[in-house]
Amino acid sequence: MNLDERSEDKCVVCEKDVTGVAGTAHVYRDGRRFSLCCPTCLQMFQRAPDRFTSGEHPRTVVEELLRDLDWKESKW
Ligand SMILES: [Zn+2]
Repeated sequence: MNLDERSEDKCVVCEKDVTGVAGTAHVYRDGRRFSLCCPTCLQMFQRAPDRFTSGEHPRTVVEELLRDLDWKESKW
């Protein structure tokens, strides 16, 4: 247990609470830690990491990315 981490942990892409969830991926950028709840979110993050870490509203970023991708099986 790392109690020195922030107690609240949310997926940076879908904003799901991932506090204490096993298997949560973490990426580090500019000395900050970002959590990703699943491979789908990780893929999404990797398409526009700068946008997700710049404080932009993640839902807006996701919607734009999905429009580009034109995914048929959207779970958003
Ligand atoms: Zn997520």
